[in-house]
Amino acid sequence: MKKALIKLSNVSKFYYSKGVIASGFTKISTEFNIGEFVAITGESGSGKSTLLNVISGLDTYEEGEMYINGEETSHYTDLDFENYRRKYISNIFQSFNLVNSYTVYQNVELVLLLNGNSKRKIKQKALDLIDTVGLKKFKNTKVSKLSGGQKQRVAIARALAKETPIIIADEPTGNLDSKAATGIIKLLSEIAKDKLVIVVTHNYEQVEEYVTRKIKMHDGRILEDKEIKKADQVEEVELNDFKNITFFNRLRLGIRNTFNIIPKFLLVLIIYLFMSISLLTEYSSLKREEYLEGTYGSNYYFTNISKDRIIIKKNDKTAFTDEDYEKISKLDNVDYIVKNDLLLDNSVTLYDDQIWLYGSTNNIKNFKGEVDYGRLPENENEVVVEANSGDYYYDELRDQVLSSDLKLSDTTGRDIKKGMKVVGIKYKDNATDYGEGIFYVSDNIEAALGKSVNKYFSFAKVLFENSYHDSNDYINEFMIVPLDRVPKGQVYISDDYSFYCPRENCKNRPLTIEVSNKYYDAKLNLTVTKTYYKNNFATVTGFSDYESRNGQIYINTNDYNSLYNKGNYQSSVFVKDDKIIDQTVKDLKGLDLYTLKIKDALLRPSSVAILRIIRTVVTIILVVVLFFISYFVLKIILKSRNVYFATLRMIGANKHVCKKLLIIELLNAAFIAYSLMMALLITCKLNIIKISFVNELMTFLTLRDYILLGLILLFISFLVAMKFAKKLFKESAIKTIHEEV
Ligand code: ADP
Ligand code: MG
Repeated sequence: MKKALIKLSNVSKFYYSKGVIASGFTKISTEFNIGEFVAITGESGSGKSTLLNVISGLDTYEEGEMYINGEETSHYTDLDFENYRRKYISNIFQSFNLVNSYTVYQNVELVLLLNGNSKRKIKQKALDLIDTVGLKKFKNTKVSKLSGGQKQRVAIARALAKETPIIIADEPTGNLDSKAATGIIKLLSEIAKDKLVIVVTHNYEQVEEYVTRKIKMHDGRILEDKEIKKADQVEEVELNDFKNITFFNRLRLGIRNTFNIIPKFLLVLIIYLFMSISLLTEYSSLKREEYLEGTYGSNYYFTNISKDRIIIKKNDKTAFTDEDYEKISKLDNVDYIVKNDLLLDNSVTLYDDQIWLYGSTNNIKNFKGEVDYGRLPENENEVVVEANSGDYYYDELRDQVLSSDLKLSDTTGRDIKKGMKVVGIKYKDNATDYGEGIFYVSDNIEAALGKSVNKYFSFAKVLFENSYHDSNDYINEFMIVPLDRVPKGQVYISDDYSFYCPRENCKNRPLTIEVSNKYYDAKLNLTVTKTYYKNNFATVTGFSDYESRNGQIYINTNDYNSLYNKGNYQSSVFVKDDKIIDQTVKDLKGLDLYTLKIKDALLRPSSVAILRIIRTVVTIILVVVLFFISYFVLKIILKSRNVYFATLRMIGANKHVCKKLLIIELLNAAFIAYSLMMALLITCKLNIIKISFVNELMTFLTLRDYILLGLILLFISFLVAMKFAKKLFKESAIKTIHEEV
């Protein structure tokens, strides 16, 4: 004997609510087969809907057994019922349950998409079905603009698209006028030829002409079950093989849903824009604080503590070559290079009887901007000072400073130059920089100071007649002085050193100078060719002040340079924009250089570390608060989506697919909002529009920050979608629809 498609044997359904058991229907036994068009009637509350829900697998039963194609279902899990619904059941509802914001075509297409059909196949199939239900003219009309009868036709087309053997319609004509209702019933009867169609109706007369069987229910039981006419015999039930929605179609659908309801899209967009801007503002101010923090502090070793300065050395410990400097100066953010870096941290003094100006030096070529007082230098003895505006000399006494002839002395206190003049003052714009003043000097002064500083940072010993003598600059003993008239390889010494030599004659005796400093050791072998004493001092050396110079040893200038000015082993790079100094550090490291940002060498008060922790905590709290605000606002906006997702589930989408669609929808909106904000930033950056607040925000952010912020926004959006999806699927689809409609 042939198996029934659906068979119920003594099935009962109870409802438990508030401790009371209510009966949906009791001990129903019957069967349904393909080809039948069954009408179920009965008064309200008699159990019709409950019976349909159990047959549809939307609701469970408590007693008896329901068989599908002969298979028992009492052990079925949620997933089993989901698969059953997918393969067997299409529902048509009194309230249509269409996606109102979609067109007729899109509603039909939706089922085909969800069942994993290819795009090419979908189009023809959907159009054929729309034609079958007589809505060809309306295929591109939004469902919300259709009449009730037309809506129910769309629902039928959609049910047919699912290609299931069973169509279950709960009062499909309840909301329709009689003419439209008759049309729907006729349509269903035509479908029923190779399907099982079960219809619940209040109005039996309307369906009488078409149905093959009538079931009348009363108080949860079948009162009457009567064959009206012979049903067509259909041998085999053909079940469709369902695939899952393809990745591409899922993406398409998710994106369509983003824009589908314009007001919803705009609201979501506003929320995401708000989130993007809050995140950007907070992050940027965090960066700003960090930046400001980096610009104050002090250091005992470095005098020039400019935030733009990076100290560099070669990793192979050799001196810089011209090619090295060439490569460095070609880097993006490099402003200029101070080749002899020692000068920057070497204090010099400009003074006379009343004035005592203290500071480090830099080349006038590196002077930026304009002077606040006085003028720029016009000759090599003129100097511009960059100083703190609170300094007594550059404030009250500035006129006297500008009118005085000053002497320049180096670190050792030795005078380098007389007749120096300060002609201009520039006040430091960074009020937190309490460093020394900076004297901007000419090339010649810089060179002179450079030599003195190189000597200052080196230690020299003189090996003469088998003993070492420390070269002492303060008391002239073996103090090494360059002198052009001394031939290469020779040295002139004081006659006072004669007692070291055999027979007190030092002529042609060897003398070796050994110089060592942080960077290199140098050695120079010389021969004594002349000795000087008071009477021949002027003729031998060209100097007249024998008393103050006696003890010095004179060597050729080139020899001197080979000892002290062997090139630069340490230089400093100054950047144009210190906000992106880290990139420059990276570039420099790429050239095989050791780097030290002066910012990193500064000592800072310990309160800075505490402030940093507080700031980080505040930022984290803000992001969390932002997440919840956006979640709650989005929840309200997305409430309208409940019905949509419940509808999707009713027509065959599982939770997994719905969740992915929701994630795509929200990520897409977040992406668009962030892109819009980026577009705004770019137009500001290109000065197409001017919003100073926006420009200020951007100064502290790099491309990496923008990418990071974008990812954070997408991640928050993802979390919101996950949380919302979880809530969405707590309730069954049928319940959601009943509550919302
Ligand atoms: P019909 O569709 O014939 O109007 P229903 O199937 O909706 O009737 O209801 C059958 C019986 O089950 C009624 O007594 C109704 O009160 C009860 N019932 C239906 N749904 C629920 C529910 N969710 N909770 C409790 N009782 C319910
Ligand atoms: Mg009902």
